[in-house]
Amino acid sequence: MSIAQRLRPFLHVLVFALLGAAAGAQKKDGPVEIRYPVPERIERAAKADDKGLLQWEEWKEPQCQTCTGTGKTKCATCERYPDEWTNCIECKGTKEATCRACGGLGHQPDPLDKVICPGCRGSAYLACTICPGSSGLITPQGGGGRPQKCPACRGDAGAKCSICNGTRFVEMATLKPSLREANAATLAKALAAANQALNALTAFHPPADVRKANKELAKVLGGGQAFFPPMKRAPKAFEDHMARIAGGANYQHYEEAAGQVQSAWKSGFEYYLKHQKRMLELAHKRAEANEKLLADTKGK
Ligand SMILES: [Zn+2]
Ligand SMILES: [Zn+2]
Ligand SMILES: [Zn+2]
Ligand SMILES: [Zn+2]
Repeated sequence: MSIAQRLRPFLHVLVFALLGAAAGAQKKDGPVEIRYPVPERIERAAKADDKGLLQWEEWKEPQCQTCTGTGKTKCATCERYPDEWTNCIECKGTKEATCRACGGLGHQPDPLDKVICPGCRGSAYLACTICPGSSGLITPQGGGGRPQKCPACRGDAGAKCSICNGTRFVEMATLKPSLREANAATLAKALAAANQALNALTAFHPPADVRKANKELAKVLGGGQAFFPPMKRAPKAFEDHMARIAGGANYQHYEEAAGQVQSAWKSGFEYYLKHQKRMLELAHKRAEANEKLLADTKGK
């Protein structure tokens, strides 16, 4: 299998994370296109109550653009396997998978409550990149012969995602009393932490040495843990996953396979932090306006 074929599922995710809100329904044929909401464009309205204080409006649960409400898509993991390879971690061979963009809900959940998992991007598992297409199988080096169990995932094709524990979603910033109701000063602190963690992640470019790159990325992934619970779990989850991938260290494409995981985690957590930033900014704007109004009223 060529590099381009192996990279294809990652490219789709990347392209649609960038394009995001591209309109139109899912094509019947062709590869699955996962459309995650673009963080910078997420709207979460607040409306003034009779005292003039901004209150969050009810979330209208907009339909998921990827599955158009069904909560299912064609399986993106195994669509490129040879027909005789039936072991698929995502669909268990049924060819139908839970929609990664909405975690199977059919609609976008309230972005103040949760966000799609940055580790698995909604698939609930961490894909093995040693075996082609996360198939659990690998053709013997030098070609020829029957496919063998992948030495990295031992034929499982990956492992349950330990960032979301297989639930496809993760928590928002932990603030007191909540992200919705925190005061402007608290929100500003969390916003600064999100910016710092995001800048560190964006600036990270893996050195060629896989072990060194893993070590550095694990550290960067843990950057925002004071406010963001998934980042507390990230370093260990990442290291555990890279230890599995290292089971394929004897393969000639090992460095490329490790690089795929590194860039998937980097972009997954960048997405997560941009989402946090967006919601923190909206909450901060609301809190600031309300605090100003209360101060003005008191002053009169
Ligand atoms: Zn969906
Ligand atoms: Zn499948
Ligand atoms: Zn996950
Ligand atoms: Zn594998």
